[in-house]
Amino acid sequence: MMQCMRDLTPVDAAKRVAKERFAWPGGYALGIITADNGVLCSACVADELELIIDPDADDQWKPMTAYYADADDDGVEDDLDNYPVTYCDHCNRPISDATSQT
Ligand SMILES: [Zn+2]
Repeated sequence: MMQCMRDLTPVDAAKRVAKERFAWPGGYALGIITADNGVLCSACVADELELIIDPDADDQWKPMTAYYADADDDGVEDDLDNYPVTYCDHCNRPISDATSQT
């Protein structure tokens, strides 16, 4: 995973993740890292945005930074699969799968 949107506040970054879902260029799945060091996929960010942007958000929802999933997070067994797949701490799907949810 790579941090992104460092020019935005965490709340604004979370709003952008909920809306855009993908990093551009690259098309990688976006998500956020929370105050308790959890990882949320874009689908969960969109579903739980009200909790996430709440100024009194619990640490499990409070956004710290946005990220995008890079090729190593894709869960595909290939030459790029050098690191463990990253799973969303809320829905337990591989974060790159969020992009295929409706
Ligand atoms: Zn999720």
